[in-house]
Amino acid sequence: MTKTRAYVAIGANLGDARAAVLRAMADLDAVPETRVVARSSLYRSAPVDAAGPDFINAVVELETALGPEALLHALQRLEAGAGRERPYRNAPRTLDLDLLIHGDSVRSTEVLTVPHPRIAQRAFVLLPLAEIAPDRVTLGQLRQVSGQQIERL
Ligand code: ATP
Ligand code: CA
Ligand code: CA
Repeated sequence: MTKTRAYVAIGANLGDARAAVLRAMADLDAVPETRVVARSSLYRSAPVDAAGPDFINAVVELETALGPEALLHALQRLEAGAGRERPYRNAPRTLDLDLLIHGDSVRSTEVLTVPHPRIAQRAFVLLPLAEIAPDRVTLGQLRQVSGQQIERL
């Protein structure tokens, strides 16, 4: 079984967001052929281009035998299980799981773009990612998002 390193961003800002993020970490570890090998701290961030309460964010590193599309489907099942609805773009959400990086995979289709195209714009992705995978984030990237409101919990 070929195992790939993948990184997933976890975010929630409805209900008990902290519990939802912790639950997602446990659920990701239970995805078939997949385990969580590193977890960042939890972060609190103000919504960007969105309304609603602050987000709780984290990033996890996975070792998985699933390909990018299969892993995305697993993420979407977990979102649905957490009651995720998509009433409008950037709506508050019970759980958002974004596939940031999947090994060396590069694709851009209707359903999946990896690496995730907005990693570099987001402090709530870069800070937790830098914590568990420092070689994947540059100081220049961190500087560019240094104006964004975020707090490590
Ligand atoms: P953003 O992608 O800017 O963080 P979002 O997370 O709010 O926005 P969603 O409504 O959760 O967006 O997802 C919209 C669609 O994005 C999904 O239906 C999914 O097919 C697609 N998508 C494309 N690339 C990815 C990826 N790398 N990870 C997760 N979803 C992706
Ligand atoms: Ca997202
Ligand atoms: Ca998403």
